[in-house]
Formats: sequence, C-alpha cells, structure tokens
Amino acid sequence: MSATFKRAPDEKINLRVGTVVFTIMHFVPLIAIYTGVHWSAWIIMAVLYFSRVFFLTAGYHRYFSHRSYRMGRVMQFLMGFAGTTAVQKGPLWWAAHHRHHHKHSDDTVDVHSPKRGFWWSHTGWIMCKKYEKTQQDLIPDFVKFPELRFIDKHDWIGPLLLGVSVWGLGYLITGTGVGAWGITLIGFFLSTVLTWHSTFTVNSLAHVFGRRRFATTDTSRNNLWIALATGGEGWHNNHHHYPGAACQGFYWYEIDTSYYGLKLLSWVGLVKGLRRPPAHILEKHVIKKGAADLGMFQTHWERAVKALADAQTRAGDVASDQKLAIEELMANTRARIEELARASADKAVAMLPQQELEPVS
Ligand SMILES: [Zn+2]
Ligand SMILES: [Zn+2]
Repeated sequence: MSATFKRAPDEKINLRVGTVVFTIMHFVPLIAIYTGVHWSAWIIMAVLYFSRVFFLTAGYHRYFSHRSYRMGRVMQFLMGFAGTTAVQKGPLWWAAHHRHHHKHSDDTVDVHSPKRGFWWSHTGWIMCKKYEKTQQDLIPDFVKFPELRFIDKHDWIGPLLLGVSVWGLGYLITGTGVGAWGITLIGFFLSTVLTWHSTFTVNSLAHVFGRRRFATTDTSRNNLWIALATGGEGWHNNHHHYPGAACQGFYWYEIDTSYYGLKLLSWVGLVKGLRRPPAHILEKHVIKKGAADLGMFQTHWERAVKALADAQTRAGDVASDQKLAIEELMANTRARIEELARASADKAVAMLPQQELEPVS
C-alpha cells in the first residue's frame, strides 16, 4: 500500500540502541535451533502471549488511554507494571501516543496512520527518535502519580524481571542452563515478538482490512481475525465509534476476550464501572442505515488528489499538447471530486463529541 501522506524529513527510522535491540530481538528466538526446546516452552509462550496481550489491551489501552473503567491505585499500578513486561515502553508513553491517534485518526498528523505508509504504521514510527518521548501534556490525569512516572521512566524493569523469571523457571524444569535458555528463547523472546506484532496490526491492518459498521472520520475496520489475535481489539471500527467503552465487541458474537477478563476482575471487585456503549450509540452513524461514510470518502478523495498530483509530475516530460489535455482532465476531475465532497459533507452527520473520561481515584 503506497503512502497518501508524505512524512516530514525527521520522520524516519533512526539508528539508535532501541532500534537495534528491537531488530535483533526478532532473530533471537532462532538460537533455539541450537539449544533445543523443552515442550513446556510452548505453553509458557502461549501463557505469556495471551496474558501480556491482556495487560496491553485491558490496561494500556482501555484503562490508561481511554479510562473506560475504574481501578484502585494499587491495582492501577499493578496493571501498568504488568503492561511494561510486554516491552512496549511505559503506560504513560503508550497511552499518550494512543490518545493522539484518536484525536487525529488518519489525518495528516496521525503518527501511525497507514496513510503514511503501511510499514511506517506497523513498526516504522516506533523506531523514530521523534516519538521516543512521553507526551506528558496528553496524559496529565496519570502523570500525577509518581509510581506511574517511575515505571514509565524505568520501563526495562518489568521485561528484565520477567525474562529472568522465565529463565529460572526453565532451569527448574530442565535442570540445565542450556535447557533454561531454550525455554527463555521461546517462552519470553518469541512470545514478546508475537505480542508486538499482534498489537501493531491494530494500528496497521485494522485500518486497512475488514468491514465498517459505523461511519467514523477515520479508516478503522472490524476484523474477526485481528480480534481473535489481540483479545478483542480487532473490533476497531466499533472502538473508534465509541472509544469510551470497556468492550470493543459490541454484540455477543463479537469475541472480545479482554472484556471477558475484565468482567471476571469486576466480579471479584478488582475493577469497577466497566462501561458499555449506550443503546443510542449503537444506532448512531450506522453505514447500512444510510450514514454518509465520510472517513472512507475522504480517503478516496485524498488518493485521487495524489494520483492527480503524480500525473501532473509525470506530465512534465510529455509534449505540450498532451500536457494541456492532462491538465484539463485533472482540473475537471478535481472539480468533480470537490463537488462530491461538498455533497457528502452536507449529508454527513456531526461526529461524536469527545467523550467524558471517568474520574481517576
Ligand atoms: Zn485506530
Ligand atoms: Zn483506542
């Protein structure tokens, strides 16, 4: 998929420690070919994959980014710390960037819109120095907690503790150092890489492949496969329609395992006030009922304008009479597109106002 929006000159992959470690991590599990792997490593891998997906989706995303439910201060810290074990930086960094994404979904400044290039949205932006810092002004409600600032700054503690624990468990199981490494390579390293890419697909694929139920101003989609891999985050069009819900599957058949996990936690009183989309929200901006899909219209429009601009650049090399014909065609097409855009905008209903966030205890 080619990029519709140009990136700024400082938006590029920078060679620095984080980028090198991130890249090397992808190859580390291959060392298991030499160490051999005890069967229990695959179970540890699955447990660490699904549990960390939960901490990211239920914690980093649905709580720290959207405050779609409430937790006490200790539980809030534990959820944030557990999230750091997924090696996706700290909860404040993650949630602040995610809030920015919702504020600017698929517009020209959305950091990880696929409109800036598919691979950029998937992994490129993470390796860019420009986005390394936590945007504290976007997350003042959590920056005020010193314990959260601490784990956000020292986001390496969680992964290190987890890695060492898996090695220790591996040693207990196999009784040898090599055996412990085999279990660590699969149980910790491979599951970390898989957790990364399942999370990243929400930024990349869930804005490209799938169906749209609601007319949102972005390109978000609902995709069952991504939902299964990410604990329910694949219902991304639902989520962009109503980000304040603790669930992303809005109907019983939309599998959302992170929400089921949160439900369990609420039954034992560890989390409270799980929000669901109100009935009137489920009826609002439904494309099948005729809502104008401004998000997709805008996307097609942007692509058409880019195609015209590219054609104009190419026309520089052709004879002047051909150039005149192309320019005339471009002018006519652009006028028609603008006319259609105006008609669509007239029909489009006002998008949802920014939702009220739950108070933090
Ligand atoms: Zn999105
Ligand atoms: Zn979100």
